[in-house]
Parts: sequence; structure tokens; C-alpha cells
Amino acid sequence: MTPRVNDNDADEITVTLDGKEIRGWSYADEAERRVKMRAAREFVEGWLQATEYAAAKTEPHVFDATSGDGENCAKCGANWRDTTRHLTVAA
Ligand SMILES: [Zn+2]
Repeated sequence: MTPRVNDNDADEITVTLDGKEIRGWSYADEAERRVKMRAAREFVEGWLQATEYAAAKTEPHVFDATSGDGENCAKCGANWRDTTRHLTVAA
């Protein structure tokens, strides 16, 4: 479930999730369009980070120091010091 940024190439940028609009920006010219596009991308980035954080809160990846997985989490492949995903570290 990844949000999508859509530009109707006329006057509006929207962010949709599963086809449903969750946020929209209007623009009048090219300069404004660039600013709003940046805002839309920031919004999506924040959405993804928040979603990941919420998922990690309910089901955190646990680093097992005895498994020999090294620096990276076996579950997601990210460094286990990435605290966005890895809220619990087993010693
Ligand atoms: Zn992980």
C-alpha cells in the first residue's frame, strides 16, 4: 500500500492510496507546480516513515547477537541500528 503522486498536468497534484485521494494541492503556474510537487513528495515520504514506524511499534524486528547475522537484519536487510525498524535489540 504505497501512496501515489499524480499530476493532472493542468492545475492539480493529488496523492492517492488504493485509488482514493488522501491529499491534494492546486497550482496556477510552473513555479507553483514545482513547489507543490515537492510538498507532495515530502508528504508521501512522511507517510511511508510513519507507516513503517507504526509497524515497527507493533512488530519490531529483533536483532539476535548470537545468530551471526552481522550488521544487517535477517528480516528486512537493513542495518539493525536503524531504529525506525528495530526498536528492540537482544543482547
Ligand atoms: Zn529488520
